[in-house]
Amino acid sequence: MAQKRIAVIGAGVCGLGAIKCCLDEDLEPTCFERSDDIGGLWKFQKNTAEKLPSIYRSLTINTSKEMMCYSDYPIPDDFPNYMHNSKVMEYFRIMRDLLDNFSSSGQWDVVVEANEQQESLVFDGILVCSGHHTDPNLPLQSFPGIERFKGNYFHSREYKSPEEFLGKRIIVIGIGNSGADIAVELSRDAKQVFLSTRHGSWILHRVWDNGYPMDTSFFTRFNNLLQKIASFRITNNQLEKKLNSRFNHAHYGLQPQHRLLSQHPTVSDDLPNHIISGKVLVKPNVKEFTKTAAIFEDGTIEEDIDVVIFATGYNISFPFLEDLIKVTNNEVSLYKLMFPPDLEQPTLAVIGLIQPLGIVLPIAELQSRWATRVFKGLNKLPSVKNMMTDITQRKTDMAKRYVKSPRHTIQVDHIEYMDEIATQIGVKPNLLWLFLWDPKLAWKVFFGPCTPYQYRLRGPRKWDGARRAILTQTERILKPMKTRTINNERNPSSEISWVKMAPVSFVILASVLSYYCYIYHPERK
Ligand code: NAP
Repeated sequence: MAQKRIAVIGAGVCGLGAIKCCLDEDLEPTCFERSDDIGGLWKFQKNTAEKLPSIYRSLTINTSKEMMCYSDYPIPDDFPNYMHNSKVMEYFRIMRDLLDNFSSSGQWDVVVEANEQQESLVFDGILVCSGHHTDPNLPLQSFPGIERFKGNYFHSREYKSPEEFLGKRIIVIGIGNSGADIAVELSRDAKQVFLSTRHGSWILHRVWDNGYPMDTSFFTRFNNLLQKIASFRITNNQLEKKLNSRFNHAHYGLQPQHRLLSQHPTVSDDLPNHIISGKVLVKPNVKEFTKTAAIFEDGTIEEDIDVVIFATGYNISFPFLEDLIKVTNNEVSLYKLMFPPDLEQPTLAVIGLIQPLGIVLPIAELQSRWATRVFKGLNKLPSVKNMMTDITQRKTDMAKRYVKSPRHTIQVDHIEYMDEIATQIGVKPNLLWLFLWDPKLAWKVFFGPCTPYQYRLRGPRKWDGARRAILTQTERILKPMKTRTINNERNPSSEISWVKMAPVSFVILASVLSYYCYIYHPERK
């Protein structure tokens, strides 16, 4: 049978994974990319081109390397845990070099345009990997007076670096990861930065207990089980208590009305430092702008504002798929957030249209593994009716849990969603079997971080290196930080526990001695 031809739209993080999965499944991928390089969002460009994603120069990813790699290709052990965008690109280039192929009946006509010439090509399947951070949400209609504001205002996608903002008074609107990162960076040299938020936010930090990356501590199967057993309320209580023990969110003006797991997480180790230093002042939503000032919803006014940055996120859009994938209020109706349910043949899938409480890359890779198998007919999708029921249920659950906001329409929980997709392919790790036959590995799989290698232990496209990758993941986390040899490496926690235990040990020792003194006292005989 002739090899099926698949169009992969976009050569970013999801597109590269999709190409790899096509090759693994003996499909023939052709990748279409609007820019002149791979990497998508992660390729830093000095200038912001229309319809292309755009990042700031300092952007450092907030998910760690062991959690965000392709499932059969660990990130080199000397790469830092949280990578600068240039380092992320380095990893993608390694991957690209490995994929040297890079280059109805359910078939698709893809019209491509290059140098103003159009060409029509026919494909058996399409993987849409164009991302959802290209169409900026600039809600100017919600900010009366902005049209008469004399200062500079723009969306965060146009922000590149802090030099030109020296000595300015700046308002950053929105407390997603862009807003928090940009406010912190600008506040180093600006005269004053105001961070305006309508809901507030819980702030997570990259450096977690004992200095391990947050996601490696957070996303474990053990924690997932605990969360399932405990109620949502108990889990939220515990996590919020933990975050408040670092800094009290109410004292810092950040405390939201909603619970921690009801919002896409904002991760910033630096934000509290900049708030306590007065460099960033947290404010409520802006009610109105005047020519030079901002009036906030609490009635306070900040005069002499030079710049307003709208870090207000992105809209979901598929301009090149027109009526095929409809977006209403930033919502889409896709089975498992991937497949349009009403196609005659399941030969189109959207990859990476998720906003996880977790990590995009391994999820997108798993989606591609599933989609390519569906294209080949190795996995079947349920009936349209069942897909629609699933879609409605997902929307209902999301609406119940999350704060009402256009940015909370494609939320997924990392392990839950990975397992959901893995079950379709038959690659979800079998813990019972592992505990019986390989307890050492089972221990790591259950109590350790849920790294992508777990989905290569069994089933189609099993990887022989997966076991070793899991057993050595902690070494790779620690390796990049071992840049100064520590002689007589001491474990401070054991010192602390010894110090804590000293009085107890003393009491036990004293009791034992007294007992023996009593037993052997000459007068006792
Ligand atoms: P985002 O997560 O969608 O956050 C947008 C923010 O703007 C939210 O605080 C939202 O508030 C607010 N907002 C939206 N519309 C508003 C309005 N009309 N009035 C007032 N406030 C409004 O967008 P983002 O921060 O650009 O992040 C986009 C994605 O990139 C996310 O997945 C994020 O995790 C990721 N990212 C990652 C990094 C990193 O890895 N270092 C850095 C930046 C971004 P509500 O919550 O009230 O709607």
